[in-house]
Amino acid sequence: MKTKIGLLYGGKSAEHKVSLQTAMAVMKALDLEKFEIHPIYIDVEGRWIKGPELTAPVDDVKALQFSEGDKLSPAALAPAVFQASEQEKDSLDVVFPLLHGPNGEDGTVQGLFELLNIPYVGNGVLASAAGMDKVLMKNIFAQAGLTQVNYVSFLKKEWEQAKEAAYAKVEAELDYPCFVKPANLGSSVGISKCRNRAELEAAFAEAFQFDRKVIIEQGVIAREIEIGVLGNDEPECSVAGEIVPKKDFYDYTAKYEDGNTALIIPADITAEEYQKLKDMAIRAFKALDCSGLVRADFFLTKDGEVIINEVNTMPGFTPFSMFPLLWKHTGLEYPQLIERLVNLAKERHAEKQ
Ligand code: ATP
Ligand code: MG
Ligand code: MG
Ligand code: MG
Repeated sequence: MKTKIGLLYGGKSAEHKVSLQTAMAVMKALDLEKFEIHPIYIDVEGRWIKGPELTAPVDDVKALQFSEGDKLSPAALAPAVFQASEQEKDSLDVVFPLLHGPNGEDGTVQGLFELLNIPYVGNGVLASAAGMDKVLMKNIFAQAGLTQVNYVSFLKKEWEQAKEAAYAKVEAELDYPCFVKPANLGSSVGISKCRNRAELEAAFAEAFQFDRKVIIEQGVIAREIEIGVLGNDEPECSVAGEIVPKKDFYDYTAKYEDGNTALIIPADITAEEYQKLKDMAIRAFKALDCSGLVRADFFLTKDGEVIINEVNTMPGFTPFSMFPLLWKHTGLEYPQLIERLVNLAKERHAEKQ
């Protein structure tokens, strides 16, 4: 019996295009002898469209952007998309949400799959939600005793009512340079590095365009190292990789547009540093009660101090993204990585029943 896999991609998000590339790569990698592929495309307006079953690999990303057929709101779509008929046996065996950011990586879509009682790849509701909000994530990491940079946060209302006080608090608690970030985003969208008060003021205004909450972090001068974690209750770590942005920091254009950021895998670090990174990655994974996968992002200072920056519960997943590359260097090729994630999804689902 083939596994009926639903691939959910696109989405009303800044990362729509990235998601399409990911979907195409995953479809190509899935073995059609083992899988029945059911595409579910979310257009830029947030409407869901169920595509026809895929019986051959696609070469052109445009072919995945269905426009015909029923466009449904997520609320109306559940039976239509997830069940071929009224009978439970015809529903999908597993769903792989290939989505990033709010509405894909933040627990919302995961909640829908929970209600539908369908196994899904990756993190559950709690880990996804906690991992999406950088303030919540850092509070949990602090409680778990993980080393991180100092940070403060503000709601838009608090800032609007007392801007001077907000800037003064940042300057009292942190030094320049600091980083201002929307609390709930990814891909460096809305993030600024600030070297003085004028830049801080502009950065607040920028970040509040994307969120009602911002976080301001102490800037550090350090190497950026990332580790992939895979598993459920007994997670394992990949080799470490280093990111070397050829500009001030790893911003959106460095990630997706100029393409000249170097990824060095495995990272040139000591065995002791690698051990520390692995320990912290696993502790972070457990602190957020993660499952399936995360990519843990760290700073490594020149004195060998390891500082956790964040975890990403749905990391970039094209074959050229850091997470799959880390696993490739660890011995797990892209198609096997996908199968492993599908199996982890089924395992976790079976444990809950
Ligand atoms: P993604 O989810 O795509 O990894 P993100 O939007 O969650 O990114 P961060 O990883 O928090 O954003 O930050 C983006 C980049 O900004 C980092 O990779 C790093 O280059 C820089 N950066 C962020 N915070 C700091 C900091 N406290 N000190 C120094 N550099 C930082
Ligand atoms: Mg992130
Ligand atoms: Mg992200
Ligand atoms: Mg990051």
